[in-house]
Amino acid sequence: MKKHNFNAGPSILSQYAIEETAKGVLNLNGSGLSILEISHRSKEFSAIIEEAENLIKELLEIPQGYSVVFVHGGASMQFCMIPYNLLNKKAAFLDTGTWASKAIKEAKNFGEVVVVASSKDKTYNYIPKGWTIPSDADYFHITTNNTIYGTEITTDIDSPVPLIADASSDILSRPMDVSKYAMIYGGAQKNIGPAGIGFAIIKDEILGKANRPIPTILDYRTYTQEKSLYNTPSCGAIYTAMLNLRWLKNEGGLKEIHKRNLEKARVLYDEIERNKVFVATVNDVNDRSIMNVNFIMSENYKDKEEDFQKFASSKGMVGIKGHRSIGGFRASIYNAMPLSGVQALVDAMKEFEKAL
Ligand SMILES: *Cc1c(COP(=O)(O)O)cnc(C)c1O
Repeated sequence: MKKHNFNAGPSILSQYAIEETAKGVLNLNGSGLSILEISHRSKEFSAIIEEAENLIKELLEIPQGYSVVFVHGGASMQFCMIPYNLLNKKAAFLDTGTWASKAIKEAKNFGEVVVVASSKDKTYNYIPKGWTIPSDADYFHITTNNTIYGTEITTDIDSPVPLIADASSDILSRPMDVSKYAMIYGGAQKNIGPAGIGFAIIKDEILGKANRPIPTILDYRTYTQEKSLYNTPSCGAIYTAMLNLRWLKNEGGLKEIHKRNLEKARVLYDEIERNKVFVATVNDVNDRSIMNVNFIMSENYKDKEEDFQKFASSKGMVGIKGHRSIGGFRASIYNAMPLSGVQALVDAMKEFEKAL
């Protein structure tokens, strides 16, 4: 039976990336070697990592003065790298979930932290409104898409201080005005490629101003100056990411994928609204993520959660169990999820309702 992969991360990749990776694992571009055994300094791999970085630049129309790098340690290591490199006195944060809180925790090791607003009072089921960014902060940090709670900031906000965004789970899901950000970063395993790499898009001029020594491997300048090849990166993961980026470009780029993502999200949220068995956890339509759609059983059907889980599994749905911190269901519908996969989930929801 066809499986529909709704995993939150690592998550669905394009079929093109999977199939071409399989070929490259056996014999990379006729070289007679596997991508898993070539040197990261070889001309084959140089071309791969360069193409990957260039595709990110091209897809996001990144202006001059920015570097694109692949880093170690996923998004979580960057929670400490960012303050290490950029926090001299004070940093401001918008607390929209577990990942934002983890970034806040690390920043506190390096200086004063101001949380401008938090949605923790309601299990992070909305994006706080009406806050102000302190103009004396070294930077302001947001999480554009809150993977666990299914909320998203879908516009590029104006900030009087350098704006830094953890965009782990919505990077490349829509066109972005990169010029509004000093830095956009994240783990690659949601919308770029497989696990094992993180990415960062950095405005070059913000680096080199830290008033502390930085260990070489945690210094962003090491990555920008050495083109992500200071030491050995995760070559296989970068190869698959490059293929997935190539797929995205061939599909028509960010305008086209955004259109599809909006349509997928609309179809799923519409069904949640219509279906008496389910209810969305995020009330404000404007705050709803188009990448991670969260829903729970409605009041009268609380005892049917496990039944639906089993029913959906029997129909080929994978990874729709909600995050352990909130329960219910979460369908992650990243770029590579086709509308037909979302339709299959919607059909299962309809069928489940009918059979009650
Ligand atoms: C998954 C995720 C992270 C953590 O990523 P790692 O690469 O596992 O460290 C951080 N932030 C957001 C928004 C995420 O979705």
